[in-house]
Amino acid sequence: MNMTAESGKKLIKELIPLVKNASCDVALCVPAILIPEMTKAAAGSNIKIGAENVHWAANGAFTGEISADMLKEYGVEYAIIGHSERRQYFGETDETVNKRTLAALNAGITPIVCVGETLSERENGTTEKVLLKQLTDGLKNVEDITKVVIAYEPVWAIGTGKTATDGQAQETIAFIRKTIGQLFCPKCAEQIIIQYGGSMNAGNCKGLMAQPDIDGGLIGGASLKLDFAAIVGFDK
Ligand code: PEP
Repeated sequence: MNMTAESGKKLIKELIPLVKNASCDVALCVPAILIPEMTKAAAGSNIKIGAENVHWAANGAFTGEISADMLKEYGVEYAIIGHSERRQYFGETDETVNKRTLAALNAGITPIVCVGETLSERENGTTEKVLLKQLTDGLKNVEDITKVVIAYEPVWAIGTGKTATDGQAQETIAFIRKTIGQLFCPKCAEQIIIQYGGSMNAGNCKGLMAQPDIDGGLIGGASLKLDFAAIVGFDK
């Protein structure tokens, strides 16, 4: 819940020339009300616009919610699902993550499904158990898992300036990949995109992106500044 239409448009205009030669997909997931304006601002560029949530029902009495079809109408290609802040403050569960994920896939929107452990879960050694449950329940009945992007976001690293070390991020994402192989298929595990998120910035992105299992980043604070362009161009 950052920026407004005016500041968002300004940022996109400044980012466009800086990310135009990116060798990765670039998307900005923005508050729903800003989607139409940001889509216009990004038109003709390689910046895609995504949402920060999506409801599971096609339509109906769900006041305040936004359906996949409504997002599609504005050209939305990605939707973040199950961000830890949704889980922490808005009652998101693995079950609702699953329903939203299936709805997004059904509408042709790529779900960016967030998983991650809290600090106490890491400290008491239950990281893998927590992730296994989030992946098993959150991705239940997904037919083609390669159409999903997974974002591993350790909750203790989000917005704290405390990034996971390259080794911690690699080790945990390798576990996620192995689990996807077991829950779905070994080939799917190779193909699926798994991102790291949690205080990634222009200074630490190179080390994280050099890890063999890290395919991309989900950037929070640094995406509100031109630092985002430096992260997108980490390989330049
Ligand atoms: C996030 O909000 O998902 C996030 C990763 O934020 P930050 O990069 O600021 O930690």
